[in-house]
Amino acid sequence: MLGLMPGEIASDETGWLLSPHQHMPLLQQRRALMLVNRVRLFALLFAILTPLWIVVDVLALPSGLWERLATLRLLSTVAFTALVLWYPQDGRLKRAYQGMSMLFAIPTLFYIGSHMLMTQYHLEGVSAAVGTGYAFLPFVLLAAIAIFPLTMLESLAFTMPVLLAYALAWTLDWSVASWPSFGGEFWLLSLLAAVSSLASISQLAFIIALVGQTIRDPLTMAFSRRSGIEMLELQLVNAERNQLPLAIAFIDLDHFKGINDAFGHAAGDKTLKLLVQQIQQNMRRGDVLVRWGGEEFVLLMPNTDRVQGEVALERLRQNGLGLRPDGTPLTASIGLAERLADKCNARRQLVELADARMYRAKQLGRNQVVSR
Ligand code: GH3
Ligand code: MG
Ligand code: MG
Repeated sequence: MLGLMPGEIASDETGWLLSPHQHMPLLQQRRALMLVNRVRLFALLFAILTPLWIVVDVLALPSGLWERLATLRLLSTVAFTALVLWYPQDGRLKRAYQGMSMLFAIPTLFYIGSHMLMTQYHLEGVSAAVGTGYAFLPFVLLAAIAIFPLTMLESLAFTMPVLLAYALAWTLDWSVASWPSFGGEFWLLSLLAAVSSLASISQLAFIIALVGQTIRDPLTMAFSRRSGIEMLELQLVNAERNQLPLAIAFIDLDHFKGINDAFGHAAGDKTLKLLVQQIQQNMRRGDVLVRWGGEEFVLLMPNTDRVQGEVALERLRQNGLGLRPDGTPLTASIGLAERLADKCNARRQLVELADARMYRAKQLGRNQVVSR
């Protein structure tokens, strides 16, 4: 089934479709923004359609009923409008979940309320037809799940309450409820929940595949500069919040131009590719390798202080960065900066500091780490 997912999810990413816990921060942030935008889009639709339907109710339903329904509709409209206008956007998943919960809670409450009002009336003809329309609301809600890119657990968390509300509304007037028709509708509703959950999950798969492609540099598969900047900013915020160190290394290969000149550009490219594999084998799980420019890389090392950074880079240098096409070792000049030791929390300055130290490493004879 996973092989049929668009864009082909890598095998170590299949768990990402189940729950969001392992999602990388960049994906999490983009998805959170997207979810909130969709919440507001849907709230806007509801904010327009909910009051418009009052006209139909006035024409078709007995007075007494439509006034009370109109009150419910106006209350819901206010709530939807508030969501559209004021729901804040901060790129956090928690915020997105809250927005979705509100979006789903408003029509669900409206549904239970309108259902309770309806059962007090015996509607016939056109009125009965309009009344039946109210019973469709849970179906609309479950179909709406399909516009959100969700993991399997998330879609369960949002479809279950709607199914429960539907069952609850029926049990509230169990005396007149016809069980076979409840059973049939509940079955249909469950199918709809399953289909829209599948739609949500395949949307997520597509996003994971796209994000995975766009955030990497196609030659080396290291992170691209743009996504590297985003990640560094997220990591800085995180390090600051938790009072943690964060080290970054600026790595520039030594005499790289010589490889191109002597063996051609393709040989240079291949050397870069092997270099990235070599660094990735040596770095920690949470470390992030960014291709900053041609043969310049930035290594982000979260929760690593200056001394630990020095040790890690020295080990990397000892293990080697691979070979040049002529068989001699490939070396690099590396500048290290660390946010606590250097008392620097601005992204740009931290990179500039590491860059300046890299230049000093060049001046001091290359193939070394400068960290202060
Ligand atoms: P040093 O840094 O030690 O001073 O010498 P260098 O020869 O590495 O000098 P510099 O860093 O200024 O030069 C970078 C060279 O890297 C220029 C260019 O020929 C080469 N280069 C940059 N990007 C690529 C790339 O994507 N592929 C290949 N093959 N070469 C690249
Ligand atoms: Mg360079
Ligand atoms: Mg260089």
